[in-house]
Amino acid sequence: MSQDRPTSAAEIVSEVRSGNRRALSIALSLVESTASADRRLAAEVVEVAAQVIDRPTRRMGLTGAPGVGKSTLMEQLGMELIARNHRVAVLAVDPSSRRTGGSILGDKMRMPRLAVHNEAFVRPSPARDTLGGTAEATRDAITLCEAAGFDTVIVETVGVGQSEIEASLLVDALWLLVLPTAGDDLQGIKRGIMEVADGVLVTKRDLDAAAADRACTLYRSALQLLQPSSPNWTPPVVAVSALVEGGLSEFLTVLDGFFSPDRASEIDQRRRQQRLVAFDALLQRRISEQVLSAVHIADRVHSAKEQIRNDGLPPTTAVTRLLDHIHITVTDEPPENSML
Ligand code: GDP
Repeated sequence: MSQDRPTSAAEIVSEVRSGNRRALSIALSLVESTASADRRLAAEVVEVAAQVIDRPTRRMGLTGAPGVGKSTLMEQLGMELIARNHRVAVLAVDPSSRRTGGSILGDKMRMPRLAVHNEAFVRPSPARDTLGGTAEATRDAITLCEAAGFDTVIVETVGVGQSEIEASLLVDALWLLVLPTAGDDLQGIKRGIMEVADGVLVTKRDLDAAAADRACTLYRSALQLLQPSSPNWTPPVVAVSALVEGGLSEFLTVLDGFFSPDRASEIDQRRRQQRLVAFDALLQRRISEQVLSAVHIADRVHSAKEQIRNDGLPPTTAVTRLLDHIHITVTDEPPENSML
């Protein structure tokens, strides 16, 4: 951390809360940092931030293939939500960094009005190569944005695959964007993504309304065959246009329904479940990271890989042997400075 950063978690969060955007950016960099020296402070910052959130928040994911219309929709949706007195943060998550390498210029061009709006905050994708790390950082980033007073946080994920499933564990509602050109194969969209989507948005309706409406019918019948992710919510399929006046009105009504006060306890329940899943995943990752980084173990892992590659050693044999050599001492005594 550089010298000019505030040093205590309370100080950082108080700056973030007061609307200091630079403080928010610094805090976000802190939770994105993989440096072990930053982890303890990051953990404290997120803990304090979570405690100061004093109003209900909406967490949404938008996902879909490149070109489907995500940034155009986010720009329009963000402006409409701001007009309804919301404050909107957009977090881009792009583990492959296939877009612009996460440059700010990239997002400023993609969402020109939102990127400079006082009531909005647009954060480009952190440069990270594994989705697991990105998901953890994004979870904390959502908390920080909420502490900064952004009551609506939109997480954008690119690509079709694992990232959507991860995104569904970060947000209250995941919207899948598709083009209005659905054929019988539903554009090769995987069943798993449809199963975690809380709704499907058929984009660019202005181009061909009839095609968009046909696509809606197709997606509706496809969704009927799937197990709904919640017994209390039937994922709607809505055609939208981000380029014409009122083109998002049906979606805005869907959003109000999804986040209506009588669904608050269901959303709360989902968040509790997500936190537990995140805890399990992070615990496993950090423990294995810590164990595997020990030098003598790293050496053995290296030579096991050589044998697997060169001598045909079966992976199960290699892992079993390796574990025979790893002796982890777990004591009942909590370490000093335990945070729990
Ligand atoms: P992303 O890659 O998913 O973020 O897609 P973009 O938002 O960059 O959109 C890709 C292209 O589709 C751009 O040329 C947009 O102008 C266009 N586009 C996006 N939404 C609409 C829409 O509602 N109607 C029309 N006609 N074009 C759109």
